[in-house]
Amino acid sequence: MSSNMRINKKCQLCNREFIAKTTVTKFCGKDCAKIAYKAKKRAEKISSSTRKYASRVVDPKDRVQELQLREFLSVKDTALLLGCSSKTIYRLIEKGTINATNIGDRLTRIKRTEVDHIFYQQN
Ligand SMILES: [Zn+2]
Repeated sequence: MSSNMRINKKCQLCNREFIAKTTVTKFCGKDCAKIAYKAKKRAEKISSSTRKYASRVVDPKDRVQELQLREFLSVKDTALLLGCSSKTIYRLIEKGTINATNIGDRLTRIKRTEVDHIFYQQN
């Protein structure tokens, strides 16, 4: 592939014209290739770390909005929505204030409309 080809190309880094031996060559020389490679690696590292950061930190407001669209909630989600602790939710379930369903051994699911019922009951 690389044998006798001569292609006029422009270096993607320094914009200098050069003669490439392969169609995939992007840079005029080793130095430009090296700099570009390092810059690319750095950019990848930055974007992956910001992505990691973004997925870890969720705006509580967005979270609540998302939960309001869901039909079934976990105890933790319900607690977040009501601004109380999970313990309080478990207590409300025990008292029968909130109807909850156990899926399997440990998964408790609460219908989102149950959250509204708490307020109706107290009025
Ligand atoms: Zn160059």
